[in-house]
Amino acid sequence: MLNLNDAGLFRQAAYIDGQWCAADGGGRLAVHNPASGAQVGEVPAMGQAEARRAIAAAEAAFGDWRRRLAKERAQVLRRWHELMLAHQEDLARILTSEQGKPLAEARGEIAYAAGFLEWFAEEARRVTGAVIPSPWAGRRVMTLKQPVGVCAAITPWNFPSAMLTRKAGAAIAAGCTVVAKPAAQTPFSALTLAELAERAGLPRGVLNIVTGPADAIGAELTANPTVRLLSFTGSTEVGKLLMAACAGTVKKVALELGGNAPFIVFDDADLDLAVEGALASKYRNAGQTCVCANRLLVQDGVYDAFADKLAAAVGRLKVGDGMSEGVSQGPLINEAAVAKVEAHIADAVAHGARVLCGGKRHALGGGFFEPTLLVDVTPAMRVCREETFGPVAPLLRFHTEAEAIQLANATEYGLAAYFYARDAARIWRVSEALEFGMVGVNAGVISTEVAPFGGVKSSGLGREGGRAGIEEYLEEKYVCIGGI
Ligand code: ADP
Repeated sequence: MLNLNDAGLFRQAAYIDGQWCAADGGGRLAVHNPASGAQVGEVPAMGQAEARRAIAAAEAAFGDWRRRLAKERAQVLRRWHELMLAHQEDLARILTSEQGKPLAEARGEIAYAAGFLEWFAEEARRVTGAVIPSPWAGRRVMTLKQPVGVCAAITPWNFPSAMLTRKAGAAIAAGCTVVAKPAAQTPFSALTLAELAERAGLPRGVLNIVTGPADAIGAELTANPTVRLLSFTGSTEVGKLLMAACAGTVKKVALELGGNAPFIVFDDADLDLAVEGALASKYRNAGQTCVCANRLLVQDGVYDAFADKLAAAVGRLKVGDGMSEGVSQGPLINEAAVAKVEAHIADAVAHGARVLCGGKRHALGGGFFEPTLLVDVTPAMRVCREETFGPVAPLLRFHTEAEAIQLANATEYGLAAYFYARDAARIWRVSEALEFGMVGVNAGVISTEVAPFGGVKSSGLGREGGRAGIEEYLEEKYVCIGGI
């Protein structure tokens, strides 16, 4: 059904200590294609015992892996990266079948995901400590960078490949070993990556993938003292629970949580560029990314012109099964996601917003939803206060730069923000004033493996990718040598 060139990439077993294995009790969980509802396959329904075994395997593998030459670790990561690109088409098909995004976006995610492996292969060889000028005549002061140990990674369904390589690539480059739990909706992308890691020569136990219900596996990953770091991407609600659960064993936590991204269009913006950016930022992955524009703030003088241009562009988006070429928007992940989008639109309309495009479930049924544009939106509406995670662009009107900044920052979240302007002084001022971890200026899609990704406030802790990405997985040890 998947029509893969290499059927061996589609694995329906978990991966622990280099073995493809079933759940202890034999239980299985079905995975469904969000576009058709058809079953894609099944994975083991594992729990605490299997998670514990995976942690033990990662612990056993750590001693050898941390002592490998950085160059050796880099070579494995680089081969893994090359295998991902060699199998890009199969990986994209597996991704679309379980996640729903258009095939073109899935190909893009595979390239982006592979990019992290390449980046961290390079970074592995640039981990350096320091020799610090000593305050004592007979002593020398220096630091070593060492891997933190066994790391747990809990990844979401919206970028099932890239979120795994962004964490595991960094950890493995640093010399750590990993136990990953993919989202129940999208385990096959993670299992495929384990298959390719094995082919690339990654030793057993360095990467383990445990599939099954989140709470049982999560409980072990957060409570087990062997796990020294938990990296999580997902909702703020679950992130807070995991952070609290990690307190008992004082783990390092890296959290990439929800966002409520403002997308500001100033009077001096290039409107066509802004429309192009809004389209990509808002409707990519059907609006299901944590950096998607959630609120479009448009200055009074260009509000109507921007709304008209954006409506025309939104009208050209093609909704359908992501496997069909030319489709620009696939289905939402499940019924709960559709219901949330519907509720946000209903709340906005009840409080005075108007629907300029879309506004309802798509005629295709299931998880398909019409790309939607709302005007006359106000900040108190749910669509502005909460992360919609769907294809709905709410347009708010503002008058001054100060008002735009105040509106943009009036949220508990602080992940990504975007704005369009041409005045150089304004670009500096607004970039500095936005309380967000990432800012796109005249750019609606800014993620790349070379830059630090992460948020402030309730959007999380730490940075992934960039120079900071590998540092999360390293401890700095101070060594003082006396008697010299
Ligand atoms: P989303 O709303 O994107 O599904 P979640 O935060 O619910 O976000 O899920 C992100 C990841 O966290 C998934 O892998 C999910 O299985 C996992 N998860 C959800 N609840 C828990 C939990 N209680 N413990 C551990 N992991 C969890």
